[in-house]
Amino acid sequence: MQKSRGTVILDVDDVLTDTNGKVIITYNNEHEDNKISRKDIVRFRYVECPNIKYKVTHYFERPGFFKDLEPAEGVVEGIKELVDNKYDIIFATATCIQGTRDRQEWIIKHFPFISERNICIISRKDIICGDWFLDDCTDNVVNNKCTNRIIKDAEWNTVKEYPESEGFKRVNNFKKFVELVLSKG
Ligand SMILES: [Mg+2]
Repeated sequence: MQKSRGTVILDVDDVLTDTNGKVIITYNNEHEDNKISRKDIVRFRYVECPNIKYKVTHYFERPGFFKDLEPAEGVVEGIKELVDNKYDIIFATATCIQGTRDRQEWIIKHFPFISERNICIISRKDIICGDWFLDDCTDNVVNNKCTNRIIKDAEWNTVKEYPESEGFKRVNNFKKFVELVLSKG
């Protein structure tokens, strides 16, 4: 068996799937008086977003919340391409305990070609080591120990809001990330 060319560690929410898209739909269905859109999610933590009046994080504790999310465009193909190029894929997701089973089943369903052993439920992303790391949370990227740390661009992780993330490489979609990894490999 050919040796791995490197470890690629991937966040799941808002990197591999549009979790905040479902958050917005759910929120707007439940709060007629405070409709929000993507541009209202200006910070990674919902409680720090001035236009979001009601609690959001309990959605992630609801059974089935993650189940019907679809992988973002190019994600399944992109991960397959990395696997074909001998990269070792690890999913690193900070899912709450109530959502853990749904999250694991979601990953297994959409990425059956990756071993279940490669699913890592973890909030402490600062302790993760590897060759590549992709996340949409600037704290996770800035404080991480991986060799190549990449931010997945989003409304909630701008340099203006998070000046400490200045200078970190960013991609605005998964295809660009795959191209970046393969171009350096
Ligand atoms: Mg995320």
